[in-house]
Amino acid sequence: MTERILYYSTNRKAGKVTFKEALLKGLAPDGGLFMPDPIPKISVQELMSYADKPYYEIAYEIGRKFLINEIPDKDLYSITKDAYNFDVPLEKVYERKYIMHLDQGPTASFKDFAARLMGRLMQYFLVKENRSLLILTATSGDTGSAIANAFYELENIKVVVLFPEKEVTDRQRKQMTTLHKNIQIIALKGKFDDCQAIVKRAFADEELTYLNLSSANSINIGRLLPQSMYYIYTFAKLCKGYDEKIIFSVPSGNFGNLMGGLIAMNMDLPVKRFVVSTNENDEVPVYWKTGKYKIIIPSVNCISSAMNVGHPSNMARVVSLYKGIMDDKGIIHSQPDLDRMRKDMFTVSINDIRTKQTIKEVYEKYRVLIEPHGAVGWAGLTEDFKANIDDASPDQISVCIETAHPAKFPEEIKEILNIDPQLPVALKGLEDKEEQYDVLENDYSMFKRYLKDKYF
Ligand SMILES: *Cc1c(COP(=O)(O)O)cnc(C)c1O
Repeated sequence: MTERILYYSTNRKAGKVTFKEALLKGLAPDGGLFMPDPIPKISVQELMSYADKPYYEIAYEIGRKFLINEIPDKDLYSITKDAYNFDVPLEKVYERKYIMHLDQGPTASFKDFAARLMGRLMQYFLVKENRSLLILTATSGDTGSAIANAFYELENIKVVVLFPEKEVTDRQRKQMTTLHKNIQIIALKGKFDDCQAIVKRAFADEELTYLNLSSANSINIGRLLPQSMYYIYTFAKLCKGYDEKIIFSVPSGNFGNLMGGLIAMNMDLPVKRFVVSTNENDEVPVYWKTGKYKIIIPSVNCISSAMNVGHPSNMARVVSLYKGIMDDKGIIHSQPDLDRMRKDMFTVSINDIRTKQTIKEVYEKYRVLIEPHGAVGWAGLTEDFKANIDDASPDQISVCIETAHPAKFPEEIKEILNIDPQLPVALKGLEDKEEQYDVLENDYSMFKRYLKDKYF
């Protein structure tokens, strides 16, 4: 018998639960985030046997380690096959330096990886128990469309997304409003913070308990585990044996992506180091330097907009993995092992000027097109090579994660390179589809009545 994996809370004041409970609850009762315990291991033989497998089969192999006794193998296999029906290209830039493109999913962002598997796992448990959920989520653009697309046509799940009417681009809006069916979209006459405040109030409102509201935000464990899979996939595809160790550069905002990588490393994936690349929101690089964690309010607006985060929600998990305790406000109750964190992760902050320069350099030198988030990652990697000269050698395998498709940033790419990036298939044809959404005043009682009328 293999050991069953349970999920503890980073605040360490709540009991351990099964994956199913952690997935459907989202947040632990003590306000902490769920983490697997123990973290299952991967053997050398297993890792090498993945070399010829397609992505969804590797996802299945990793997934079943975390879901022992919770989902029969054949069901999990069909879930991963259905979730990952797109490519995961690994593009060589030079020598053994690569870019992993996580931009081939339905919304052309790496958030598809997490959202699609999470949605299908939720559906599986809900259908089995004849329960249903109403997912309520606020978005400033991209998360909403990843969630809406990932949950589209799933059974026993309905989705309501609130977005600030004037703050998303036409394309972001159309990615949500052209789906219909179980996906309801609301334009709020307010700002992103207003959307978030309304969602938060709804979750706390006892009169809405009957709706079984649930969130699909980045702190759900169901979004974290899928993000460990592409690290393992990449190693299996690019590395020749267990003797070598890989360097990953991760452009980071809420640190969910990085956290997935750290979990893979703790499964014994041979990782030499993570380069943690942030934009001008440098609270984490400063913490590495000084040992003092100070959140940034309000966050700085950078062109890598999905990473404009002044207090990453997954920091509590990173700290927990290194034996410390941090609460949701960013207060450290017990210091983690900072020395070991510094060894495992090289942190670096990249400003907008450097981000744009990097897009230009990578395109002109290697004919590889990257967008602002991936450029922060690539610039971070080059900084790491300066700080650790040996790792710049031709034999060292290094992979930078590209988290979105360049065509999602047409103005920036046009300004920097004077070219129009080609839309991926997933984003084509939005123009011709019918949009449908409701516009609501920024008023909680009106929102509540709306929910009650629609979902009685
Ligand atoms: C969300 C997002 C990020 C940041 O990922 P985290 O897991 O929050 O660190 C980076 N790039 C893009 C394009 C994103 O959408």
